[in-house]
Amino acid sequence: MNKKIWTRTAYILTTILVFGVFLYLCFLPSFRNFVFEIENKTFDLRQNITSKYMNPSDKISIIEVDDESYEYIVDKFGSWPVPRVFWANLITNLEPSKPNMLIFDLLFLKRFTADGDSDLELIQAVNKNKNVYVSMNFDNYSKEVRTPPKLPLALQNNIENDFLIKTNPDLVYSNCRPILEEILNGTKNIGLINVQRDKDGIIRTMSPFSYYDGTYYKHLTILAGLDYLNISTNNFKLNKRGEIVLQDTLNKTQDTSGKKTILPLNSNGRVILNWYGPEWSFNYIPLWKVASAIEKGDKAFLENNFKDKIIFVGVTANSLSDIKSTPVSYMFPGVEVQATFLNNILDNNFIKKAPLAFDIVLAIFLAALIGFGVMNFKSPAKSVLMFFGVYTLYFILSTLLMLFFNVWISLTAPIMLGIFVFAAGYIAKYLITSRDYEHTYKLAVTDGLTEMFNHRYFQEQMTNNIQNAKRYGNVFSLIMVDIDFFKKFNDTYGHQSGDAVLRQVAQTIKRNIRSTDIPCRYGGEEMSVILTNTNKEDAIKTAIKICEAVRNKEFELATGDWTHVTISLGVATMPTDGDTTEKLIEYADKCLYVAKRNGRNQVVHDVPDDTPTE
Ligand code: GH3
Ligand code: MG
Ligand code: MG
Repeated sequence: MNKKIWTRTAYILTTILVFGVFLYLCFLPSFRNFVFEIENKTFDLRQNITSKYMNPSDKISIIEVDDESYEYIVDKFGSWPVPRVFWANLITNLEPSKPNMLIFDLLFLKRFTADGDSDLELIQAVNKNKNVYVSMNFDNYSKEVRTPPKLPLALQNNIENDFLIKTNPDLVYSNCRPILEEILNGTKNIGLINVQRDKDGIIRTMSPFSYYDGTYYKHLTILAGLDYLNISTNNFKLNKRGEIVLQDTLNKTQDTSGKKTILPLNSNGRVILNWYGPEWSFNYIPLWKVASAIEKGDKAFLENNFKDKIIFVGVTANSLSDIKSTPVSYMFPGVEVQATFLNNILDNNFIKKAPLAFDIVLAIFLAALIGFGVMNFKSPAKSVLMFFGVYTLYFILSTLLMLFFNVWISLTAPIMLGIFVFAAGYIAKYLITSRDYEHTYKLAVTDGLTEMFNHRYFQEQMTNNIQNAKRYGNVFSLIMVDIDFFKKFNDTYGHQSGDAVLRQVAQTIKRNIRSTDIPCRYGGEEMSVILTNTNKEDAIKTAIKICEAVRNKEFELATGDWTHVTISLGVATMPTDGDTTEKLIEYADKCLYVAKRNGRNQVVHDVPDDTPTE
């Protein structure tokens, strides 16, 4: 395999492996949950940034029952909840300053019914003023524990293509907390104040609709939002993208005419809220200030704060604990969650999740970019820098998309894929370079023609073996091989056939030695074999075996013809025949000389001391 093919194969294989592992993980529910949870945290991080640049609408004000107001109330009425005449008075006294809406994020529960007259005043105030909204609440109590009230037809809704809502157990309820019956039957302005938290306890979404007793009910904020947008319908339709499009068909109010508000439901049938500012960014007015303005008859104060405003009334006092956790704060006033929901409707800026295909394409594109970097940058520092650069830019892009287009693109999965590709790239690179190194090393010690070790390696190995033999008292042997009448062979058949035979002789030698023996091309048509840990007797056996193998073999010429050659061999053993490279080679050479003199095609291992070298 050449280098290019190997490189390509290594990259392709690791890429397939990476995607395989990633895909496998994606099929594990626990891994998916893990990814979703981290993704939610990255959403929170982005919201913390974008919310700083998002201003809440000045159309919304919040009357808060804060700690001071709570003190004020307890002082005046002795306890919480207050007699309902208090709220009745609040409504009656705010109405002259013409608020657009007055939304109570408070439950007027039946079981707190204290004194009939007081309740009656509230009932009358709520039912008389068409801009007053009150809340109800669903839960999952058993019907044996509590008989739910019969909900009026006017509150019911119909949703076509309700695939996202009815199938989600979080949005299907079995019971309803009873509020004052006369309110329930006296006004249409009753909506749900249920909230759903994610697994980590944080509120990121709201359900515009919930399912109960065979039909759908609106969230309090959706109810108010629709009225504000002049959409008087109880029939809705989910389109294929999971959106409910709300349109002002009546064109009554100027600032909303023709505008569309889209409720993009996520896979849980809820809308994802887009948060404004840090907490307390809406216009808050403590209840006690409103109450004392009313007492003092301060009409200017009331008009300044409430004319044309959408007013929420809710609790923020610590002692009444309606504090929620949201992406932008762990101590978020519950009533501001509702205000945020309504503000999202007014400004049509709910968060939309990007389509899955979009996320996948982006993730693959980024991963390819990372892979390209790892492949092409020599220094790891550059690749790491590129990795962080790419994903920092991606994070910035995702935040800008969220800020300007309300789009939530995935961060976690693409970054994980990037990490995978980065690691895999380095594994591939390691495989390639180590293979490269191996290849280079092999080239450096091998003879190209015979694919035996070269002369330099032979010398190195002789030195090694001599040192080892000296240190441990080992023996080792050396066989020198020379092809007989090779000059003549070349003259007869040509150099190319000579080369071919040389190569085949080398192969024959390699086939007849052990894997621990070291076959080398000594030079020209002379070859040598170092036989590690081998005594003279065994070395002679090997030499004879080689000699016979060559003698018996037919060699193919460059022309395609076949012929025979023979070789002569000399054997020397350390330490008996010498204890240096030179002496051993000299001894083997002498043997070779004797072999040639005695008629060639034989092994010689013993020579008289005065034998001359060739
Ligand atoms: P002898 O039996 O005494 O060894 O006779 P010889 O002709 O083989 O003599 P010698 O070993 O001195 O000859 C070496 C010859 O081997 C010289 C050269 O023509 C040939 N030879 C050496 N290296 C190569 C080679 O790489 N390829 C080819 N084709 N021939 C080579
Ligand atoms: Mg020779
Ligand atoms: Mg020769």
